[in-house]
Amino acid sequence: MKIFTLLRVSGRRRGAWLHDGVRRLVTSASALKVCVVGGGPAGFYTAQGLIKARQDMEVDIYERLPVPFGLVRFGVAPDHPEVKNVISTFTQTAQHTRCSFYGSVNVGQDVTVEELQHAYHAVVLSYGAEGNRRMGVPGEDLAGVYSAKDFVGWYNGLPANSQLSPNLDSDTAVILGHGNVALDVARLLLSPVDILKKTDITQNALDALAESRVRRVLLVGRRGPIQVACSVKELREMVNLPGTRPEMVTAEFEGVAEALKEVPRPRKRLTELMLKTALETPGEKEQERRRKATRVWCLRFFRSPLAVLPSPDDPNRVASIRLAVNRLEGSGEGARAVPTGEVEDVNCGLIITSIGYKSLPIDSSVPFDPRKAIVPNSMGRVQQAAGLYCSGWLKTGPTGVIATTMNNSFDTARTLLEDIDSGTLDVSAAKSGSQGIGALFEKRGVKPVTFSDWEKIDKEETKRGQAKGKPREKLLDVEEMLRVART
Ligand code: FAD
Repeated sequence: MKIFTLLRVSGRRRGAWLHDGVRRLVTSASALKVCVVGGGPAGFYTAQGLIKARQDMEVDIYERLPVPFGLVRFGVAPDHPEVKNVISTFTQTAQHTRCSFYGSVNVGQDVTVEELQHAYHAVVLSYGAEGNRRMGVPGEDLAGVYSAKDFVGWYNGLPANSQLSPNLDSDTAVILGHGNVALDVARLLLSPVDILKKTDITQNALDALAESRVRRVLLVGRRGPIQVACSVKELREMVNLPGTRPEMVTAEFEGVAEALKEVPRPRKRLTELMLKTALETPGEKEQERRRKATRVWCLRFFRSPLAVLPSPDDPNRVASIRLAVNRLEGSGEGARAVPTGEVEDVNCGLIITSIGYKSLPIDSSVPFDPRKAIVPNSMGRVQQAAGLYCSGWLKTGPTGVIATTMNNSFDTARTLLEDIDSGTLDVSAAKSGSQGIGALFEKRGVKPVTFSDWEKIDKEETKRGQAKGKPREKLLDVEEMLRVART
């Protein structure tokens, strides 16, 4: 990062930054300076909320990777391109004259949160939920067991997971979890490659899936059909997935039709679709489609993992999973799964656990609630830490879609603005903002990637994708990203 001389712009004395000969940002010494940690949806929406509200507000976004957009790039399934349209809103925010993006900055390592607090009037932590909940059962580290987080990172080109190379040699895969991420993974495992090859899935994942021997995917959940956590849209996609057929266990739907009238509205449609899929005989055309299907999926209910069992031929590899059979205590969404004492072993060479992401602490100076795995906050104000705020999954825990994240990020922006107005947040002193941090980076040899650097990566990825009829071919390696960014 290079910091250049002060300029006179529109008659006002402002500092100007130049990077690689390009004027990046005109900044006023008297501006309110806020930085956001994390360049995912929460980071961009928080920045948007702040910039729109005040003309004197400047926001810098620090992102660990050289590429922006967090889980929109590395989480959202490649066959859901429409979800990624939010990128154009984020791009507008990043290109705003009062917003700057600094990728390849690992907060907690390259710069501490305290240093950011010193340089900015306020710091908003929006670094998401990059950890992973574990099953806590014997055998979960055997080869062939993956977290959905790593598996999704693999097919979406997250550098940390791009070499995962999951073993897809077995007929049956078990996915633990009934949420949308579990359904994404099931769909990706069973989708015809002809569909996937037109998406931005990475080439290595596409090649591996083309060779995959997985024909049967069981999605296993602790509780019953009325408690599943997926949305009706995701389930419908599964039901209609070309080349596949559902194979539900009808006994697991006992009493569900009777309970339907008590089920709240959005869940009602979901439950009706499940009931229809499990119990009704479809029309002739659909019957014919299902007969021809070569791949099968199934939602299994009332089962919790007890142990992952190794193969007799290779004690390091998974051969099956032992499940406890549950019954429900209570009803509706609050029902609890209680083991009946019965167990069931399912043969499978691939297990993917989709039981939740979790946030991790990145800096010992920041309060962190290890039980809830969030930064403790009230309406986005980090407790007992003046000038520190949080938004997105770090604030709420890892639930909700991008729209939910947008709302909670706008809420945090509003909280921060209220604190400025009420004087709770002291903004009386001038802050050095990115200039102060830039000086630290120079000393430490940290070279951030700007948004226009990212646009070079974007261009290169789009070019590589076009050659294959895909929207983009993602760069998988951080070093390569940096090389392209700095050409
Ligand atoms: P993230 O998106 O995780 O962004 C956090 C950012 O912080 C990342 O870019 C990360 O690199 C950065 N960061 C981490 N640590 C540091 C650090 N130390 N310093 C600097 N930066 C750091 N929602 C939908 O609406 N539709 C979908 O189809 C959909 N699909 C999903 C699929 C999956 C697999 C997952 C997990 C989620 C999906 N979601 C979907 C939900 C959506 O992705 C989230 O609501 C949203 O991404 C949360 O935003 P966030 O900014 O809090 O976290």
